[in-house]
Amino acid sequence: MNDTAGQALDPSLSELVVERVGLGIFVVDRDLNVQMWNRFMHEHSGLSAQQVIGRSLFDSFPDLPREWLTRKVKSVFVLGSFAFSSWEQRPYLFRFEHDRPITGGIDYMQQNCTFMPLTRGREVVAVCVTITDATDVSIVQREREEALAKLREYANHDGLTGITNRRYFEARMRDEFKRWQRQGGELSMLLFDLDHFKKINDEFGHVAGDAVLRATAQRVSAVICPEYTFGRFGGEEFALLLPATTLDEAMIVAEKVRLTIGADPVEVDGVRIAVTASCGAAAARAQNDDCVSLVNDADAALYAAKREGRNRSVRFA
Ligand code: GH3
Ligand code: MG
Ligand code: MG
Repeated sequence: MNDTAGQALDPSLSELVVERVGLGIFVVDRDLNVQMWNRFMHEHSGLSAQQVIGRSLFDSFPDLPREWLTRKVKSVFVLGSFAFSSWEQRPYLFRFEHDRPITGGIDYMQQNCTFMPLTRGREVVAVCVTITDATDVSIVQREREEALAKLREYANHDGLTGITNRRYFEARMRDEFKRWQRQGGELSMLLFDLDHFKKINDEFGHVAGDAVLRATAQRVSAVICPEYTFGRFGGEEFALLLPATTLDEAMIVAEKVRLTIGADPVEVDGVRIAVTASCGAAAARAQNDDCVSLVNDADAALYAAKREGRNRSVRFA
């Protein structure tokens, strides 16, 4: 008796809930014919319950991933257990508009789907699918990923020139040096320092000096091969790490880079600023206990280049 009374009251209440709830709910049979369709589905798809019930889901929505969805529903019928799909695996099932004004590239409502077996006794008679709107979560997630990528970029790159910063350069150098210690072979490095840069700042101003540093970084980046790490080591000091490169080969690279830097004056606001650089080259050798001592060798060679008159490359002797 209670059962009957319950049945008389409950369907209308639960129907109300199903209609009002802020998620998509629909039911399909074994052949993916729609048996139930709530208001959320109506409002977002533009097709009412009357229009879709009794028809194949794919007739009403030809864009649905037919093979995937059929397999998913079949598995629920066969196994009698829940199945899920998250927006991270499949951004959306239905191509629903979302109502967020700023979404930075998120085109449609992102959806989490649950496939729930509806059973009578032990038999699955239908599958109820729920669709929840995960757009907000995906926006937050995307923003976080973008922020992290930017942080990573900031952490490894120099703000002025955009090339590798010293922190990252030294990390790369420690790795390469360890590999050289383990495996042998060749490892060289170059240190460049712009000549009389103080004078450039004094004569043309700090902003022009900055432009010269940017132009220098750009020019050098354009002529070196991608296996080399090129970084800003200090104010107007740049470094190149050359794996698998002998000192003789490093000197050839040094001259190429030095000539590239000095080839043409850098033009800043119509003013042509002549730039030259001095370079010190060193190759890893048995006496180097760590990469700091390799940098010191290159620095000593750079110092010699300055002493000998600048605008030249000198190898560590
Ligand atoms: P040398 O040929 O001996 O290298 O002479 P130098 O004038 O280049 O000497 P030094 O290396 O001592 O001077 C470097 C100058 O670079 C001093 C500093 O004001 C300037 N500098 C360092 N960082 C920056 C920067 O980011 N922007 C600008 N515009 N100048 C910088
Ligand atoms: Mg300097
Ligand atoms: Mg200098």
